[in-house]
Amino acid sequence: MGARAIRWVHTALETVEGGGFRVRRPFPVPGLEHLDPFLLLDEMGPTTYGPGEAKGAPTHPHRGFETVTLLFEGSMEHVDSAGNRGVLHPGDVQWMTAGAGVLHSEEPTRELLEQGGRMHGVRLWVNLPAARKMTRPRYQGFMADELPGAVIDDGRVLATIVAGEAFGVTGPVETTSPVTYVRLTVRPRGRAELPVPDGHTALVYVLRGSIEGGASAGQLVEYERTGGPIVVASDGEAEVLVLAGAPLGEPIARYGPFVMNTRAELIQAFEDYERGTLATTAPLGA
Ligand code: MN
Repeated sequence: MGARAIRWVHTALETVEGGGFRVRRPFPVPGLEHLDPFLLLDEMGPTTYGPGEAKGAPTHPHRGFETVTLLFEGSMEHVDSAGNRGVLHPGDVQWMTAGAGVLHSEEPTRELLEQGGRMHGVRLWVNLPAARKMTRPRYQGFMADELPGAVIDDGRVLATIVAGEAFGVTGPVETTSPVTYVRLTVRPRGRAELPVPDGHTALVYVLRGSIEGGASAGQLVEYERTGGPIVVASDGEAEVLVLAGAPLGEPIARYGPFVMNTRAELIQAFEDYERGTLATTAPLGA
């Protein structure tokens, strides 16, 4: 079977936030609200901060989905209302299931704030199935050396498996619905094939360099839902993320930090947040 066909190449919308912080966002943007089950993809930086310049996200709420951060450069500290705390360094990942509700902050570490330095990472939002939206919050953090790797094509492609199964290796993150999250570093003339189940959404986001099929840094390849394996190949150096997942096929009602199925649930989330009960409504043991 040949390689899975490319449906579309999406170019990320690039914005520069306060302090010169660059964000590339392939979705959501007008015309591309989500790629079921994925709700958002942001490449944060790379940005070089001077001393005192580093910025983060002070305490804010989430409900109804999972937020995933993979850091490449810099450092970040996470604190949430479920009692979890984690410091991310280059290569580390955090997979937070907001479920019924969390309040969390994501701030540069004191070291990065005081001394300045580089910051680069990727944030992904994964939707939760309707039946699991009000689940108990969960935090999974893995350091770079806890993420298994695979060597492909005589060393011309190196893979890091965060979640799901790829190249015979299974990532440590337990996902709520079937999701595969893999980082590939491709050397010149490297080539990797990754089978994806029929019906699954399959995406490749290019962080650096360019790959066969005509996508380069800041672009997202969306593949057809059926067909052969995804093929990632490059004449030069490239770095990509491969994302695949089973579409949930459920209605989405989203606004800001909340992603539910109906407008009534969305309003409920805002009311719970304003009432101060958002992070306390999680059913214990759910
Ligand atoms: Mn957040």
